[in-house]
Amino acid sequence: MFIYHIPNFVKKIFPKLIWEVSAEIHQDKYVYFTFDDGPTPEITKFVLDELNKYQAKATFFCIGKNMLENPDIVRDIISQGHSIGNHTMNHLNAWKVPFYRYAENIDQCENEIKQFIKASVGFRPPYGRVSKSLYVDKLITHKYMWTILAGDYRKGNYSKHIIDHCLPNLRPGTIVIFHDSVKSFHNLKVILPAFLAYCQSKQLIPSALPYHD
Ligand SMILES: [Zn+2]
Repeated sequence: MFIYHIPNFVKKIFPKLIWEVSAEIHQDKYVYFTFDDGPTPEITKFVLDELNKYQAKATFFCIGKNMLENPDIVRDIISQGHSIGNHTMNHLNAWKVPFYRYAENIDQCENEIKQFIKASVGFRPPYGRVSKSLYVDKLITHKYMWTILAGDYRKGNYSKHIIDHCLPNLRPGTIVIFHDSVKSFHNLKVILPAFLAYCQSKQLIPSALPYHD
């Protein structure tokens, strides 16, 4: 069984991770769509165009290497009012590499982000894998997990299943993960328009995760 919606007990066990956005920020109207693993030619453009149709804003947790290869797409993301998050330089797995290497890879990605903006909104661990060192590290602030995992990257057509299971759980403060990657596009191209239309019908406003001063 695929877990779309993170159970509350998990959030309680790991309170230092950000699972949803607080009430003072979401103001009972904002939801937060996030796109991991880009920027990706064509696919990120599809996402930006869909978001623009609804005047929706979102956050892109970019892989540094993909930013290096696609600087024009990064500029489009920023100029259209979306925010950028750090997803490591090379999409490392925190359970498989020593922490010093992992932390270095986060810094590399952040330096790439700083070519465009002051700093990222925060960090999201690839694969959602968090090691103990990563969990307790105080230099890496704003560790973003999610409320709802769309699971768009799964092989096969899960679009209807995703829509049926995720939309009823969308409420103010919810953070949703999608992927602007080649691997996810077969599902993403169907579910993203459905999520956006649903938000409009419920007067929920997709908004970008905020930068911190
Ligand atoms: Zn990822």
